[in-house]
Amino acid sequence: MFRNFKLISHVVFGRGCFAQLDDILAVRRRTPGSFIVFILDHVFSGKTLESRIPVRDGDMLIPADTRDEPKTRYVDEMVAQVKAHSDALPDGVIGIGGGSVMDLAKAVSLMLTNPGSAADYQGWDLIRNPAVYHAGIPTLSGTGAEVSRTTVLTGPQKKLGINSDYTVFDQVVLDPELLAGVPADQRFYTGMDCYIHCIESLQGTYLNAFSQSYGEKSLELCREVFLSDIPDADDKLMMASYFGGMSIAYSQVGVCHALSYGLSFVLGLHHGIGNCVAFDYLEEFYPEGVKEFRRMMEKHNVSLPRNLVAGLGDEELETMTDVALVLEPLWENALGKDWKQIITREKIRELYQRM
Ligand code: NAD
Ligand code: ZN
Repeated sequence: MFRNFKLISHVVFGRGCFAQLDDILAVRRRTPGSFIVFILDHVFSGKTLESRIPVRDGDMLIPADTRDEPKTRYVDEMVAQVKAHSDALPDGVIGIGGGSVMDLAKAVSLMLTNPGSAADYQGWDLIRNPAVYHAGIPTLSGTGAEVSRTTVLTGPQKKLGINSDYTVFDQVVLDPELLAGVPADQRFYTGMDCYIHCIESLQGTYLNAFSQSYGEKSLELCREVFLSDIPDADDKLMMASYFGGMSIAYSQVGVCHALSYGLSFVLGLHHGIGNCVAFDYLEEFYPEGVKEFRRMMEKHNVSLPRNLVAGLGDEELETMTDVALVLEPLWENALGKDWKQIITREKIRELYQRM
C-alpha cells in the first residue's frame, strides 16, 4: 500500500513576502465577528517583526515561550486561552517562529476542533476532525516543520508527534529575511537538523526516487550553506529545510533522531543540538556524513557539550533507552528489517554513555 500524503496547499517564497500576510489572510477572514490567532516566538516581543504582524481588531497575539520544546500541557493552555477569548472558532491560527512555534500553531489549530488533551492524540492518525485553517511562517530553518504532517510534542509519557493529514499547514510563508537575527549557534544546530534529515533519508532502507530527489537537492543546498560562503545562504537554507522535510515525508529519519528523542525527553535538550550531540558519535552508521558534519562544525566554530549522560542514574538511562527504542520505523529505516539483531538495549546504552 502506498502512502497518499497530503501537501501544503499554498506556499509563498521570497525576500519581503511576509508583507503579503495581511492580503493572504484577508480572504480567510470569512466569518463575521471571527478573529485570527497569531502565535509568535517570544524572542520577537517588542521587536520590529511583532509590529509588522497584521493584527486586526479582535485578533489575538500570543507570545510563545520557547525555552522548553512544546509540551502537550502548553498546547492545552493555549487552546483554553483561545476558547476564553471567544465562543466562536478563530478563522485561522498562524505560527511565526522556528519549529517549536510552528508545531504549537499546528497543535492549537487541531485541538480547537478535537476534544480532550493534545496528549490523547500523540501517535498516528488519531485526529478525527479537520483543524482550523493554519499557516506557518518560519523564522529559523532546518526542521522541515513547515512541510511535515506532524507536530512534535512532549507529553506526560512520551515525546511523539500528532501525525495526521489535518496537521499539515494550509499555507506557508517563506521569507528568508526573517532568518536574519538568528544566533549563529542556533542557526547551525537547526541547520544540521536538516543536514541529518538528508543523510538519514538518503542512507535509509526506505529510500525511493521521490525521497532521493528531494534529499539530494537539500543536501546540495546544505553543503553550499555550511561549507562555502555564499550571499544568499538564508534563501538556500530555507529551501534546504523545505526539501529535507519533503524527503523524509516519504522515507524516514534514522539512528540519530531516535537517540536524539531520548536525549530531549530526559535532558530537555532541544532537537537541533540533541541531533548534533548524537550524530557526532554515529560514525559507525553514517561514516561520510559524520566526517562532513565535523568539517561544518569546524568551519562554523561550533563546539558541542560533552559528558551529558555520564552523570545520569540507571533509571534515567533506561527511560532514555525506552524513548529511543519505541521509534521502530526509524531503526528499521536505518538498519533494515532485522534491526533488532543489531540494536539491543545494551547497544543503545553504550552509545548514550559516550555522549
Ligand atoms: P526553536 O523553534 O525551538 O527555536 C530555537 C531558538 O531560536 C528559540 O530560542 C527561539 O526563540 C530562537 N529563534 C527562532 N527564530 C529566531 C530568529 N529569527 N531570531 C532570533 N532567535 C530566533 O528551534 P527549531 O530548531 O526551529 O525547532 C525545534 C523544535 O521543532 C523542536 O520542538 C522539535 O521537536 C521540532 N521539530 C518538529 C518537526 C516537525 O516536523 N514538526 C521536525 C523537526 C523538529
Ligand atoms: Zn529532525
